[in-house]
Amino acid sequence: MILGAPPLNPPAPLPVAEHVAALPPWVLLAYLAAGVLFILALRGLSSPATSQRGNRYGMIGMGIAVVTTLATQAPIPPGALLPQPTPDDLRILFQILAAIALGAVIGIVTARRIAMTAMPQLVAAFHSLVGLAAVLVGWAAYLNPEAFGIVVPALTTVDGDLVSTRLARINPVSRLEMGLGIAIGAITFSGSVIAFLKLAGKMSGAPILLPLRHVINLGTLLAILGLTAYFMTDQDLWVIATLTALAFLIGFLLIIPIGGADMPVVVSMLNSYSGWAAAAMGFTLHNTAMIVTGALVGSSGAILSYIMCRAMNRSFISVIAGGFGAEAGAITDASKTDRPWKRGSAEDAAFLLKQAENVIVIPGYGMAVAQAQHILREMGDFLKNEGVNVKYAIHPVAGRMPGHMNVLLAEAAVPYDEVFELEDINSEFAQADVAFIIGANDVVNPAAKTDKASPIYGMPVFDVDKAKTVMFIKRSMGGVGYAGVDNDVFYMDQTMMLLGDAKKMVEEIVKALQH
Ligand code: NAP
Repeated sequence: MILGAPPLNPPAPLPVAEHVAALPPWVLLAYLAAGVLFILALRGLSSPATSQRGNRYGMIGMGIAVVTTLATQAPIPPGALLPQPTPDDLRILFQILAAIALGAVIGIVTARRIAMTAMPQLVAAFHSLVGLAAVLVGWAAYLNPEAFGIVVPALTTVDGDLVSTRLARINPVSRLEMGLGIAIGAITFSGSVIAFLKLAGKMSGAPILLPLRHVINLGTLLAILGLTAYFMTDQDLWVIATLTALAFLIGFLLIIPIGGADMPVVVSMLNSYSGWAAAAMGFTLHNTAMIVTGALVGSSGAILSYIMCRAMNRSFISVIAGGFGAEAGAITDASKTDRPWKRGSAEDAAFLLKQAENVIVIPGYGMAVAQAQHILREMGDFLKNEGVNVKYAIHPVAGRMPGHMNVLLAEAAVPYDEVFELEDINSEFAQADVAFIIGANDVVNPAAKTDKASPIYGMPVFDVDKAKTVMFIKRSMGGVGYAGVDNDVFYMDQTMMLLGDAKKMVEEIVKALQH
């Protein structure tokens, strides 16, 4: 929002090229530096080892962008380097700083309080704000185009023939950018609100399938595109108001049919939309930093959505079309317990772990729920001291958000060189004495390889069935994973079910190991 704040002391509007040329050179350099820092931030965030550095780059880049944007909102006399603010400018600057401080306090308190398992819904909630900000900035530019320097100079006075409202005529290209920014922002807002409600359990995670939904959605999308094009020829209030209302509606319609299991892809996709909305607004506001940042967020969100779809073996189109996850919870306790399975104790597990040479730990969502990562690392350290080779295997969609397991293991100080991605470790299960599954389920389900009818069919999974012994920690035989399907691994000959809360079970195993 701050990047999009209107000028503190609106000068006579300038066309884009002149506006940019009138800025002192340091402004463009500062924006360039901010853009480079954002790229370094994304690069840093690609690995847990460099993520803190990446975050710092991002913070410095954003600091530079905000200060530069604020500094250039007061008039800079020709040839001067720095702005010369009037008392009015300073008063508005104070208001903006107060708003930033308030937002920062809310952000810091929320981020500190939020549980790691609730992170996806927090991200969805934050995206909704980005979308809403784009809508508000777009409307502010529409209602006060002089302040944004986007009026057609020859027609700045009220023109009764051409303009039916009392507004000055807005540059048609700016109207296109504004229309797109508002439309994408509104879709991001309502879509993210639904994603938040579903992820937070405040609304059923099951897909809500309206009859004729594809026809309704396509019709609404075409109407939005048509109105955006028409807005370039007619800036009447009804056009932009209808456009905004339809975009809010389509965001809602697009997300309600999407099931819980696909929601993280949706959150990442909405993240991408919010970036494009910001980039469109950056054009309207002639703000280079906003264009660069928006494009970075937009493209990185799109790439992440693609990577997640590939990891879940879902096509992007089928995610957007919705309906996945309707089967969740379809299996019953009875269907599970009908088949024979073996139960083990913490002592049995400790005995076998001590004898093992190679142990591969597979963490999943249940480890996050139980917060078992610290005691798990203690168990790993103990085994390593006993000469056991311990590795951690992370599936790209284990847990409930990308990088979920990496973050938790890093928090527990598990060394990065002991953590392996699916494709790097899957071939090692054949040599593993123990596959130690803690709170994971779908990511080790062989149905993904064999059962064409399974909702997870085609998703790459860990080949735990190749390990000599499989230890499976979960609370009950009835509990199913995210996709809601039974798992043959429970019933394999070499599987020992360790039923109980993950943290308590590993604490007991550690106690037994120490005796
Ligand atoms: P999962 O399939 O959801 O299974 C979680 C397991 O943890 C369940 O078997 C559950 O059984 C157990 N559990 C829950 N609380 C526990 C506790 N306190 N102690 C011990 N066990 C506990 O998890 P996953 O293998 O990590 O798979 C992730 C799934 O989520 C995939 O289907 C993936 O597509 C989907 N997903 C991933 C992402 C992402 O970005 N990572 C996002 C959205 C969806 P009990 O109830 O019996 O304990």
